[in-house]
Amino acid sequence: MRQQIVAGNWKMNNDLAQTESLITELKKIKKTSNAEVMVAPTFTNLFRAFDALRNNDIEVIAQNMHFAENGAYTGEISASMLKSVGVNTVILGHSERRAYFNETDEMLAKKVDAALANNMRVIFCFGEELADRKSGNHENIVESQIKNALFHLEASAFKNIVLAYEPVWAIGTGETASPEQAQDMHAFIRKTLSNKYGKVVADAVSILYGGSVKPNNAQEIFSKPDVDGGLIGGAALNATDFFAIVNAF
Ligand code: PEP
Repeated sequence: MRQQIVAGNWKMNNDLAQTESLITELKKIKKTSNAEVMVAPTFTNLFRAFDALRNNDIEVIAQNMHFAENGAYTGEISASMLKSVGVNTVILGHSERRAYFNETDEMLAKKVDAALANNMRVIFCFGEELADRKSGNHENIVESQIKNALFHLEASAFKNIVLAYEPVWAIGTGETASPEQAQDMHAFIRKTLSNKYGKVVADAVSILYGGSVKPNNAQEIFSKPDVDGGLIGGAALNATDFFAIVNAF
């Protein structure tokens, strides 16, 4: 059985006081599913969040990092800096990073390498734009994003990789991929992995869906056999909604 995961991406939301208050709310809610739960605050709130969730089974993860270990990269954060404040998992390749900060597959391959070299786990995001979906090119796009950033890795690296399929047209738009669209793409992703690394590796990798997952649609999406959880944006900013999604398994 693959690990089920629900990760909340708080993006550039919540100052310190708001972060503390959201964590206080999260801690009041009981988890009734077996899903692993993660939240990704902004860099400035990571240490406080880690401290506040120290004896809790909610993991604090980062939204991004640089590929270099240190040096003249003003404004950037390295893997070892994240690890030094208790962060062991990082989201890489989110569509907002790709679109607004020009992150390319090549750059992401370097970030993945840096995270793995620091014994971190990676939630690797990818997904097609609306035009790709409309033209029927969505599988080609997703395949190339995965191949370009991950297929230089050894099979053993995949024990520290979680994949997150996030169709760009569904992120923050209120428009969700249908459970069937999600399942079809997740099965395609698993087949792509299996062709390269074999079925045992492919069957062990958790593949999350992201894109307007809400309490009212989570259960149906999570019921699909190749959907192992969700990467949640908007709904992760509300503790009740987030845990309704966590407990939708
Ligand atoms: C995301 O940002 O990864 C995301 C899926 O956002 P939302 O849930 O708001 O669509």
